Amino acid sequence: MPIHGHTSLAFVGAGSNQGDRMTMIADAAHRLAETPGIVDLVCSPIYETQPVGPVGPGTFLNAAFQLSLRISPMQLLTRMQQIELALGRRPPHGGPRTIDLDLLIYDDLVFQNDMLTVPHPRLIKRAFVLQPLADLAPEICHPESGLSVGELLAFLPQPNEIIRRFADPIVIAYANAV
Ligand code: AMP
Repeated sequence: MPIHGHTSLAFVGAGSNQGDRMTMIADAAHRLAETPGIVDLVCSPIYETQPVGPVGPGTFLNAAFQLSLRISPMQLLTRMQQIELALGRRPPHGGPRTIDLDLLIYDDLVFQNDMLTVPHPRLIKRAFVLQPLADLAPEICHPESGLSVGELLAFLPQPNEIIRRFADPIVIAYANAV
């Protein structure tokens, strides 16, 4: 685990297929941006996507967030889970969800414990994750494969699950921006 005197770069995936999906994603972005130790958040465009696996019915909205932060991966995961609960996510795992937040990449960390696997294991196979990530940072390296996010997206078999670009990025106004 990194020591936190310095600023790290992390990417979080967000998905919603229940309730007011756009508000869920915007609310999650704002709550993350207001978290102590998260100093900047940039949002990707929002995509409408087909459910993959037993998570239907209903299409998803998906986005990715780029975070500059001074908290550890486990602290970030804990905060993400607090936000999921606050926005009404309920068990069971794998069912429809008001909001799902996944820690996709944290610097060049490759790490696994009972609660956290980084990079996120489903990242390399899913267009609904890779497309918004590539919009933010196509050159960022996926530390396990050594490939960039843009390369991983280009190598995905067609057809993919993205239906359309649904909305422009959510803009986060930082009160302390200079
Ligand atoms: P899910 O229902 O797919 O959102 O899975 C949530 C569970 O995955 C939680 O128990 C997390 O502790 C665990 N998990 C493992 N790695 C990650 C990750 N990179 N991001 C988010 N949750 C993770």
